[in-house]
Amino acid sequence: MDDLGPVDIPPYRPPSEAHSVLVRVTRGCAWNRCAFCGMYKGMRFEARPRAEVEADIARLTAERPDARSIFLADSDALVHPEIVPLVAAVRRAFSGAERITSYTRLHTLSRRPLRRWLELREAGLTRLHVGLESGDDGILARVHKGATAQGAIEAGRKALAARFDLCFYVLSGLGGESDWEAHAAGTARVIAAVAPRFVRLRSLVILPRTPLHEELQAGSFTPAPPRTRLRETALLIAETVRRIGERPAPGASALPLPAGPRAEAGARARADAAAAAAGAGAEAGSEIEIASDHFSNYIWADGRLVYGGVNGFLPGDAPLLLETLAEALRAVSACRAVQDPAGLARSGRGASLYSAL
Ligand code: SF4
Repeated sequence: MDDLGPVDIPPYRPPSEAHSVLVRVTRGCAWNRCAFCGMYKGMRFEARPRAEVEADIARLTAERPDARSIFLADSDALVHPEIVPLVAAVRRAFSGAERITSYTRLHTLSRRPLRRWLELREAGLTRLHVGLESGDDGILARVHKGATAQGAIEAGRKALAARFDLCFYVLSGLGGESDWEAHAAGTARVIAAVAPRFVRLRSLVILPRTPLHEELQAGSFTPAPPRTRLRETALLIAETVRRIGERPAPGASALPLPAGPRAEAGARARADAAAAAAGAGAEAGSEIEIASDHFSNYIWADGRLVYGGVNGFLPGDAPLLLETLAEALRAVSACRAVQDPAGLARSGRGASLYSAL
C-alpha cells in the first residue's frame, strides 16, 4: 500500500466519530462565512479528485478492514460532484460498517432534491451531522449562517424523509446575553417540528480571527455567562417538550405545500414537500436524544465541577435533565468564582485548561 502515499487526514470530525475511519472527500468549507466559526478559515475549498479519495479508501481499508463507522470529511463533503459513487465505494470497501456519516449544511439539504438524498441513502450514507446552531431567524442572520428557521425545518424533514439518522448541532450562548430566550425558544420550535434523532449542544467559544471576535472587541456582542447558558438550556428543553406535546399526529401533513405552481420546479418541490411531510409524520412519535456533555459546556464553581452537561431522551427524561440544570444553577448562584471554557478562552487561559484534560 506504500505506493498509494499518505492518507489525507481531515482536521475536524464530530465527537461521536472519534473512533470512525475518516475519509477526506473535500477540503475546507464551501461556505466559510459563519461569524463564530474558525474551523476552515484560510483554507481554500476544494473537492478532492475522485482517484485520490479512492486511493485513500484503499489504504484505509487495508489499515482497518473491520471498521464499524466511517465519517466523510470535511465540512459538507456531500457537495462533491461525484459523491454518490464515492459513498458507494466506501460502502463496498467497508462492507461490515454499521454507519457511514457526513456533515452537511442546511442550505445543501434544502437546495438538493429529495431524489438526490434518496440516492445517497441508497448508496450507503446513513447519518447526517447538521449545524442548526439556532432556530431564531435574527440570530441566524446575524451570524451569517445562510439559513432560516423554516428552511431548517424543511431541510430536516427532507433528511428524515430520505430515512437518514439526523443529528442537529446547537450552539449554546449564540444569542449572547441579550437574546438567549429567543435563541432557546426558536431552537426548540425547530427541534420539535423536525424531531431529529440526536441534538447535541456545544457552547460558544469565541475564537480569535473570527467576525464574532471582532464584534466582541467592538462591544457589540455580549457573551452569555454560564448562568445564562444554564437557563437557556433549561428553556430549550422545556419548550421542546411543550411543543412535542402539540405536534400533529403521525401521518398529518405539517409542511405547507408551495403556494401556486411556479414553472417546472413546482412539481418537484411538491413531491419533496409531500415526502418531507410524510417523513415528519413518521418521526412524530419518536424520542429525541439530547446531549450537552461536550467539554465546552462544563462549568466550575469555586474550583469544583458543578455542571458536566446533560444527556437523555425527550420528552421522557426532561424532568431529570431540568433538575440537573436547576441544581447546577443553584451551585453557580451560590459561588463567587464561576468558570467555563468560553470565559477561560477570553481570559487567555483556555489553552492550558484544554491541554490539562
Ligand atoms: S460552521 Fe460549518 S458551514 Fe459555517 S463556516 Fe464553519 S464549517 Fe462552514
